[in-house]
Amino acid sequence: MVWSNQQNIRSRSFTCGYCGNVVASGVGFLHHNDLDKRVHICPHCDEPSYITSKKQVPGVAPGNEIAALPDDIEALYKEARNSVAASAHTGAVLLCRKILMNTAVSQGAPQNQSFLDYVQYLADNGYVPPKGKGWVDHIRKKGNEATHEIKAMGKTDSEELILFVEMLLKFIYEFPSKIPANKP
Ligand SMILES: [Zn+2]
Repeated sequence: MVWSNQQNIRSRSFTCGYCGNVVASGVGFLHHNDLDKRVHICPHCDEPSYITSKKQVPGVAPGNEIAALPDDIEALYKEARNSVAASAHTGAVLLCRKILMNTAVSQGAPQNQSFLDYVQYLADNGYVPPKGKGWVDHIRKKGNEATHEIKAMGKTDSEELILFVEMLLKFIYEFPSKIPANKP
């Protein structure tokens, strides 16, 4: 037997990929030959995470929950975050692009434009705050790099895009829904 039975192991603090809580757990399983390989049981949700000094599976989904999203956008946003947690970065970037395109169309942009046209539409129509314009330039540059082919994307690319999408969706959907007069 290579793995121990569940026992008390050296405690490690981590963000649980299942419940999102920051926890410390000294309960789990230990690899007999390689002490860096450990499975920690989350004390909050009881789910097992495989953690070494280099990786954690399942990973942690970046970004935060957003209120008042339309169902289709909410599903895409959730899938994009989970893709990052699963290290599916190119998939996450493509999902974020789809979110931005759907969002622009829902805010009146014409159909069948390019991804960059939609980002430009959101910026030109006041959906990006003045100090967020640097983001638009950054995303345009990234988009140009990948215009003619679907380029493999890394962790930084997907996490940056999730952050941008989160900011936009909060401005477009969540904040307006919290104005007292708009509440049902
Ligand atoms: Zn948990």
